[in-house]
Amino acid sequence: MTVPVVCTIDEIGSRLDADRRAGLQVGFVPTMGYLHDGHGSLMRAARAGNDVVVASIFVNPLQFAPDEDLDSYPRDLDRDIALAEANGVDVLFIPSGEEMYPDGPVLTSVSVAELSSRWEGESRPTHFTGVATVVAKLFNIIGPCRAYFGRKDFQQLTIIERMVHDLSIPVEVVGCPIIREPDGLAMSSRNIYLSPDERTAAAVLRRALDAGTAAIEAGERNPTPVTGTMAAVVGAEPLARLDYVAAVDPSTLETPNILGPRTQLLITAYVGSTRLIDNCTATIADKNRDA
Ligand code: AMP
Repeated sequence: MTVPVVCTIDEIGSRLDADRRAGLQVGFVPTMGYLHDGHGSLMRAARAGNDVVVASIFVNPLQFAPDEDLDSYPRDLDRDIALAEANGVDVLFIPSGEEMYPDGPVLTSVSVAELSSRWEGESRPTHFTGVATVVAKLFNIIGPCRAYFGRKDFQQLTIIERMVHDLSIPVEVVGCPIIREPDGLAMSSRNIYLSPDERTAAAVLRRALDAGTAAIEAGERNPTPVTGTMAAVVGAEPLARLDYVAAVDPSTLETPNILGPRTQLLITAYVGSTRLIDNCTATIADKNRDA
């Protein structure tokens, strides 16, 4: 049986109200569709920890700047439904733009100050307010016990955690590991934009993260040489152009003067005209590293 698709806020609300009245716990995976195994891993985590699994597919106009890829964002609904079904999703919520924003631009928005303005926020100033606003709205519509986000979008995860904390939203945010292709490229819906040569070159992000991690593991405690090493790796790849690289404290996303026991390495680069984002955790004490 294929996964039921619900398109209206009223219908998903009444369906999940009935589930909650029956004492069932709801796990939620918000996505923008064009699903891959990164999304699949979140669905499997939700399946393992909840009675009912809801995933949403909504390409949220609020989080795209006018010059970004809102209209060309890849879509393949039949494949998405099959992937959701294979990963244990019970119901897909796929609202239209009109269903989510019937009055046009929203007058109310959720902004997580400071965390939203650095790194991704410098390149995409309106992005995280759009993300926080739609995630808050989806949390209100779905009412999940737990919601699953990838560490691939590390800054986004940090912002959602802070929003839930600051506004006492009754949901547990679960961060999940980054799922990668065999050459280390983090899976992303936008990887489809890459030409074959660019696809090969795109593995440079992971190589840069590995170089930064190796520098920290070799004893470097000053963030500048660490990020310099990472930038040099990207600089050696002719098809790639660095947007930003950072070595930050994982909770504040600020660059410390001296690196602490856990450092989050962030990197974003254009490969051709496609903007790719990646990160990893470098841990000094036990030399473990995420994903
Ligand atoms: P998106 O559809 O790109 O908005 O992503 C929806 C969710 O999937 C977000 O929580 C992402 O962080 C997560 N995600 C995307 N790619 C990956 C990946 N390669 N590994 C783990 N999670 C991912």
